[in-house]
Amino acid sequence: MGAHQNPGIEDVLKEAQSYIHDEKSLALISRAANYAAEHHAGQFRKSGEPYVVHLINVAYILATMRVGPATIAAGYLHDVIEDCGVSHDELAAEFTTEIADLVEAVTKIGTLEYKGKDDPEYQAANHRKIFIAMARDVRVIIIKLVDRLHNMRTLQYQSENAQKRIAAETLDVYAPIAHRLGISAIKNELEDLSFFYLNREEYYRIARLVEAKKIERDEAVNTMIREISEMLKGNNIEFRIFGRSKHLYSIYKKMVTKGKRFDEILDLLAIRIITRTELNCYEILGYIHAKYKPIPGRLKDYIAVPKTNMYQSLHTTIIGESGKIFEVQIRTEDMDAIAERGVAAHWRYKEGSKYDPKVEQKEIEDKLAWFKNFAVYSEDEAGHETASEYMARLQRDIFEANVYVMTPMGRVIDLPNGATPIDFAYRIHTDVGHTAVGAIVNDAMVPLNTQLHTGDVVQIKTMKGTGPSEDWLKFVKTNQARNKIRSYLQKKETERHESRVFDGEKILSDELRKRGFDVKEYMDKKKIENICKDFRVSNYTDLMYGIAVRSISPTAVCAHLTNQKGRVSEDEALSHLLNREVQKRTSKSGLVIPGIESMKMSLSHCCMPVYGDEIKGYITKGAGVKVHRVDCVNIARVKSRLIDVYWDDGDAERYYDSDVVVMAHDRSFLLTDIVTVVSQCRAPMESVSASVNHDTLTSTIKLTIRVHDVQHLQNVLANVRKIESVFSAERAVH
Ligand code: MN
Repeated sequence: MGAHQNPGIEDVLKEAQSYIHDEKSLALISRAANYAAEHHAGQFRKSGEPYVVHLINVAYILATMRVGPATIAAGYLHDVIEDCGVSHDELAAEFTTEIADLVEAVTKIGTLEYKGKDDPEYQAANHRKIFIAMARDVRVIIIKLVDRLHNMRTLQYQSENAQKRIAAETLDVYAPIAHRLGISAIKNELEDLSFFYLNREEYYRIARLVEAKKIERDEAVNTMIREISEMLKGNNIEFRIFGRSKHLYSIYKKMVTKGKRFDEILDLLAIRIITRTELNCYEILGYIHAKYKPIPGRLKDYIAVPKTNMYQSLHTTIIGESGKIFEVQIRTEDMDAIAERGVAAHWRYKEGSKYDPKVEQKEIEDKLAWFKNFAVYSEDEAGHETASEYMARLQRDIFEANVYVMTPMGRVIDLPNGATPIDFAYRIHTDVGHTAVGAIVNDAMVPLNTQLHTGDVVQIKTMKGTGPSEDWLKFVKTNQARNKIRSYLQKKETERHESRVFDGEKILSDELRKRGFDVKEYMDKKKIENICKDFRVSNYTDLMYGIAVRSISPTAVCAHLTNQKGRVSEDEALSHLLNREVQKRTSKSGLVIPGIESMKMSLSHCCMPVYGDEIKGYITKGAGVKVHRVDCVNIARVKSRLIDVYWDDGDAERYYDSDVVVMAHDRSFLLTDIVTVVSQCRAPMESVSASVNHDTLTSTIKLTIRVHDVQHLQNVLANVRKIESVFSAERAVH
């Protein structure tokens, strides 16, 4: 565990000045440093150091990676949204939208909650995928990696539990991301730090073994370096050569995964040669193979076929004169930079060239075909498909097939593209789905059919005693939600049917009793089944249902059952027939025009009448009768073409849409309160939108609700007016 000295703000600037010369850019970095110091003043880390020390470290590491000024600034500012309550907009106003976006994205990823390998829902691979999907700008990932690196360097101040959890997450999620980005320096350090906290015993054991063999190994390596150097100098090739040591975790991993003994791994001595050109690389390889015996099958040409993370190098394994085995890597300076700093090397800040994050991003994505294709490649896997095939496939997998959203607690839920809060609610729990009445996405109330996007934080408002609406079936995307809604509605329907059957039985018994028959004798299922065909129904329950909904006359059933047909008066028979006629005439609109049976009628959209309103029909040209409220402005001056219309006798199940406008002094949770009250009044909500007039601080909320009748609507409005800060709630006329 190497101790790191804390850099200061001036060290960051010095590092930046080594490759950034533009005064404005340097001023931006200084401004970000001061802003962070000011806003985090009084905050301390677990180590007891002022919080700003962490931010200076992050900015400093970023500067050593030669990232652009905006990224260094964002490094300084990466915790101000989360820890100082600074908003995105404030940050954008103070700096730039680009910087505010970076900080916001880093903050958002920070709320992802990693629950460890044991929980199947939070598999590390999935987690990495979400991470990448959320951070479409590669700079966000780099900042996040550096943030994690510094947190890992200072992990000793955390509790043992926290150390283990953070180290596990680092090993499962962050180190592989660093590997994919080709930033091996960060990857190796993250791995060794995690290894130390997760398995201290093994860490120390391997460290001791490495140390014990160090002198012997160094000697062998130095001898080999001398030999190769002399040979290459003799051939006039420019080069640098050095031995390299494997990091501890890679030794441990090889022991575990390849089942090798420690000395087998450690006996592999490693040498790296850096030269000027690609051609030099092959020349050097040639000379080495001519002098030393190569082990067959161990030559790898990653220059001709780069690894998916852009890594390029020649690898070979040779047997030295001492009989020891050496791994030799040969590459150019550029290749070496990429091997150490990966994407960050490619993406070095270029002075003078106008910085365009979109162009940069595209460039990186083109170079890193895997960037969008994160999950498919496994460790060191060479591609069998072409890069573009991978890209197309994974593009679909990650960005198109799924959206990843979160609960306010950071639990990640993956849903198909186009999924809505209702799909989300059913994924959380069936009861949450059944009782959902509202959704809050990223702190704003949205309609239940809103499409969700990756990174959205979704919260569902529920209300006991409510149930899913049939309309939900029109927009849900998951089968799970669809099936649950269907089965709920079916169950309700069955229940309703059952209670109607019960009603029918009661009506028939009453009828029998009224007429002096023995109820016990005639309420006999068999006897009743026998007369079903007389009423054109197939069984007992259908007959009872018919009686309950008045499509079958209980008097007539009673007469058939007791074989007393004659006792039913003509009047009774006739009145029942009339009843059935009325029922037939009931149009779908729930409206009647006396004397006219088949007329197309619909409720006008301007005043949206509900059952119980005083209404008038307007005979349109070709679109049937439009029904308005009598006081609707749109028919106020109309003299002709008006016709009397009446509501058909109430069907309690029916709902009418009504637009409502609520005005209130703006305050927090206003919308939530309104939605809650409306739901409590059992008025399903179709849509809601709110706007705030910032001059008067007045909020205007437009709702479309569904009510049974005018009484129901008045009740809703009266209750909404009682809400604190609401000063009016009225029906809208368009
Ligand atoms: Mn941080």
